Amino acid sequence: MIGKKILIKGIVQGVGFRPTVYTYAHASNLSGWVRNTSGGVEIQVTGNPESVSVFLTQLRTNPPPLAKIDSFSVEEISPLEYDDFNILLSEPGEGDFLPVSADLNFCPDCARELFDPTDRRFRYPFINCTNCGPRYTIIQDIPYDRKKTTMSAFQMCPACEKEYHDPQNRRFHAQPIACPICGPQVSFEINGKQVCRGNEAIIQARDYIQSGKIVAIKSIGGYLLACDAANEQAVSNLRLRKNRIQKPFALMASTIGKIEDHCNVSQEELNILSSSSSPIVLLEKKSSSTISAVIAPGQRTLGFMLPYTPLHYLLLEPTDGYPHILVMTSGNVIEEPIAYKDDDARQHLDTLADGFLMHDREINIRTDDSVIRLFRGNNYPIRRSRGYAPIPIFLPNPIAPMLAVGAELKNTITVCRDEYAFMSQYIGDLENLETTESFEETIRHMEKLFRIQPQIIACDLHPDYRSSVYAEYRSCSDQVPLIRVQHHHAHLAACLADNGWDSSEPVIGVCFDGTGYGPDRAIWGGEFLLGGYNGFDRLFHLAYTPLPGGDAAISKPARSALAHLWKANIEWDPGFESSQSLTDSELSILKNQLKMGINSPLTSSMGRLFDAVSSILGICQFSTYEGQAAIELENLADPFEKGSYSFLHYGDLIDPSTMWIELIQDIHNKISASKIAAKFHNSIAQMILSTCSSIQLSTGCKIVALSGGVWQNIRLLASTIDYLTDAGFKVMIHRQVPTNDGGISLGQIMIASAQSGKR
Ligand code: ZN
Ligand code: ZN
Ligand code: FE
Repeated sequence: MIGKKILIKGIVQGVGFRPTVYTYAHASNLSGWVRNTSGGVEIQVTGNPESVSVFLTQLRTNPPPLAKIDSFSVEEISPLEYDDFNILLSEPGEGDFLPVSADLNFCPDCARELFDPTDRRFRYPFINCTNCGPRYTIIQDIPYDRKKTTMSAFQMCPACEKEYHDPQNRRFHAQPIACPICGPQVSFEINGKQVCRGNEAIIQARDYIQSGKIVAIKSIGGYLLACDAANEQAVSNLRLRKNRIQKPFALMASTIGKIEDHCNVSQEELNILSSSSSPIVLLEKKSSSTISAVIAPGQRTLGFMLPYTPLHYLLLEPTDGYPHILVMTSGNVIEEPIAYKDDDARQHLDTLADGFLMHDREINIRTDDSVIRLFRGNNYPIRRSRGYAPIPIFLPNPIAPMLAVGAELKNTITVCRDEYAFMSQYIGDLENLETTESFEETIRHMEKLFRIQPQIIACDLHPDYRSSVYAEYRSCSDQVPLIRVQHHHAHLAACLADNGWDSSEPVIGVCFDGTGYGPDRAIWGGEFLLGGYNGFDRLFHLAYTPLPGGDAAISKPARSALAHLWKANIEWDPGFESSQSLTDSELSILKNQLKMGINSPLTSSMGRLFDAVSSILGICQFSTYEGQAAIELENLADPFEKGSYSFLHYGDLIDPSTMWIELIQDIHNKISASKIAAKFHNSIAQMILSTCSSIQLSTGCKIVALSGGVWQNIRLLASTIDYLTDAGFKVMIHRQVPTNDGGISLGQIMIASAQSGKR
């Protein structure tokens, strides 16, 4: 007989780990025990050497499908005599912590039961098991145990209790276990009054949607607003009420077949759609699609997801006459965070929804749906939230406990300890009180959940960001150092960490985005950096152009266009689309602003250059959501056009003047906007290649990291990667965290850790 003690770390709780261990141990005739600790799963076994070895191999090669094992240690102990193999109660250790599972997509086993009339959970919208259901959004503290979730409000009935305690049952220790007798219930409310419950409530919601009404639906991480995607009037109504003029809406389809009616879906995309994370996936729209242009104006893609809770399945159950595709957009008033508390929803969504499909399982932390795009078969996250947060990013080296608060737009925060960086769900744009409160709430929650007392706090270099102001306050109150990280340096570091980079060798960071505060107080955004976690040199950047009106120029791309022409000494032809989009008085104010340098901060922003081209071509004159002008420019670009314009380098400046002269010439020659848009994209990719080649010549560096919001442009991404790899460069792009500002907090953590020497 021999004895072994095994400690397994990673995402090992809430994913059916102990029952699997139990089954394997029994099959190998081992005695001993398994238990959850706050540090992982701990096992002790006694048996003959052969059986123990079979057991260990089985556990290593065939762990539960949703577990994510980060370490697996085995230690020899003296064999102890146990009668049997048992599952022991949890043993929380002081300060121990453990990664927490993200919320899990509804599983096929539960789906079968949901529609089985003989099952006691037939048509019960909260059916779940060890392989599926809510996790992060209901967990209040660790270790993951029912009494530390929002399910503690529900007393298990004897039948559920029996399943919960039976190691052979697939609901063994499924913390959110519930049934129609003992679990949460749905209800339908109109004007704050409950009108029905249970199945009737779901039917009522379906009827409402079918008749063109808008229904607020309590989902996993917050309220969603739903309407029939085929009803143009309903969709327009939703836009009007949400004051969401053109930003695309996400869709939820009853089946993958319904998605394939409208989009091309690759095998990889199908896998992501139906994965345990079940995000919104951006899919290429078919030309034959009948989805109204109102859903996603100016887009070549549609964002689709599949139902991911039993409630969604019941809502979208294929029945004659009922819609198969619903708009499912976050339930919030413009710029506010998604509503997740019932009273809040009643108050804030009152003018948006005609009815409310609610339930009495509390959501502990708000979490929006995630958005993923696939690029060449790999994940390219746009928004990393439900289903992904708080799965940790595994770091190359253990680091001290820290907090990074991110930037301003698309904010996320990251806390870290040991070799884990826990990036939060998507918090949103920190532009108002509500979102800032959500930001602080998320920080408090994650610090508590992962037992993190930050020894260092990192924030953006921009002194006025709400996140920076908070970081300053925390640094004072906690008496810990504050490290301010330049925005594009953080982008570079985020991309490196995303790729598991662990070297001090400098890398070329092509960091292109809309806005980031530079140490010279200019607005950076078209940057070629050379560096790593420890620091950077700014080797080249887009020549500064004034941004008349500052932020006002972001919503009116014509301002960027005319500023660029002014800088390039090109007359403002009254026939230019940009000139025509502004009134005469606006034009004269603009000219004056530029001449006198009034309220015209200097910028090297690549995002604004895309805006400018979009405006001069008459594609977008009013940007109603971040990146709109650039996205529409990309979508219009002719895929076959090979021509390009020239950028010149002067010292460390990349001057777009020649590009503008050539582009304006094309406009005068009546070349189509589609061809000009394509030539512009090609020019940027070529300019990147020539700039990187020049850096390589002087430094020998052959590795490039692409980060920043501009890299959501897939056409630019593809051609840049092709040019660079053909020239022998190794190129890193994002895979786990967004390339936009949603990835900034991870970069800040890495830089703070390197610069403080606390690794
Ligand atoms: Zn299940
Ligand atoms: Zn029950
Ligand atoms: Fe950025």
